[in-house]
Amino acid sequence: MNKKILIGIAGALILGGLLWHKSHTVINPSWAQPTMGTACHITLAGSISKTGLAALREKIDAALEDVNRRMSTWQDDTEISQFNRFQSLEKFPVSPEFADVVQAALSYAEQTGGAFDPTVKPLVDFWGFGPERMSNIEHGTPNDELTRIMDSAGWKKVRLENGALIKAHPAVQLDLAAIAKGYGVDRVAEVIRAAGRKNFIVEIGGEIVADGTNREGRPWRIGIESPEPDKPFGAEIFQTLSVLSRVEGEIPKIAMATSGDYRNFQTRADGTRYSHIIDPHTGRPAQSDVAAVTVIAPRCMDADAVATALFVMGSDKGFQWLENHPEFQAFFILHSPDGQSFSSEATSGFPKLGK
Ligand code: AMP
Ligand code: MG
Repeated sequence: MNKKILIGIAGALILGGLLWHKSHTVINPSWAQPTMGTACHITLAGSISKTGLAALREKIDAALEDVNRRMSTWQDDTEISQFNRFQSLEKFPVSPEFADVVQAALSYAEQTGGAFDPTVKPLVDFWGFGPERMSNIEHGTPNDELTRIMDSAGWKKVRLENGALIKAHPAVQLDLAAIAKGYGVDRVAEVIRAAGRKNFIVEIGGEIVADGTNREGRPWRIGIESPEPDKPFGAEIFQTLSVLSRVEGEIPKIAMATSGDYRNFQTRADGTRYSHIIDPHTGRPAQSDVAAVTVIAPRCMDADAVATALFVMGSDKGFQWLENHPEFQAFFILHSPDGQSFSSEATSGFPKLGK
């Protein structure tokens, strides 16, 4: 064979290989998967084979389905709903995954002096935010029903012992909504890391994990939205932050979660609003100077629980608490006293903010 023909064949093979590669790989895939009453948004930076992506998506969907099947109070057949219907003081054996999240929830309840409390489910229903909405409430007026409900609420009324939950009052019910989204994000991030991907971002309802860098090889930039109820999701950004490595040479990583009063609220007859976050000490919607608080923590589950707790505490108590818990950093957006504008305040270790 002469040289020219050889070169021709080699060229055709290379071109064929390139075309094959192009038709079998996806670059910077980004998609959304409905979950937990919202959606999980995922972006991978870089290229991945179509089969690799399909396999990864399957694993992610399975992880999300698993979290829903255990922790959603919006479906009757989930592990949490079965536990909630179990009106007994006998042991209720639970899965290791469920036990882990309940244990974290009870630990945060203790650490936050009960500002975070996973037994708020009947209160969440009472105030019209849960699956069993009670519509006969005279908004803002404590009544006998509320007093009765408060009897069965309180994180000390449930304990975890050798893989089983035990109620101290038969009507105790759990709501893990304030921690499960963060837990779901952690689970998805683990699946992506296990597939060897180093550059990605995962978000469920504002709770985020980001690793590595974006499609341009630059730091991920995350927007903290302005806590205005009438603006569509993410329409107005209050601040942005870049995900940088904390230690030189380390892969950049962040886990963060936000709690606020601007997305899920009810309006009283007089036009005033109350939020879906309950102050477990009063049994009533938390009255907070905080419009939104964003927390950064080692895991998204931790950030999620602490963001809810800080909202309940308010900024003064919240900053005091953060002083004793340096593994958390927080950014508060506060209502001005007249309610007409916002100010902000952050812990000193919170990542540098930009516009
Ligand atoms: P988040 O958006 O993470 O702050 O979670 C708020 C959700 O958690 C609410 O919609 C309730 O279902 C539930 N919740 C409300 N108040 C509390 C509380 N103090 N502690 C734990 N969960 C709560
Ligand atoms: Mg939360």
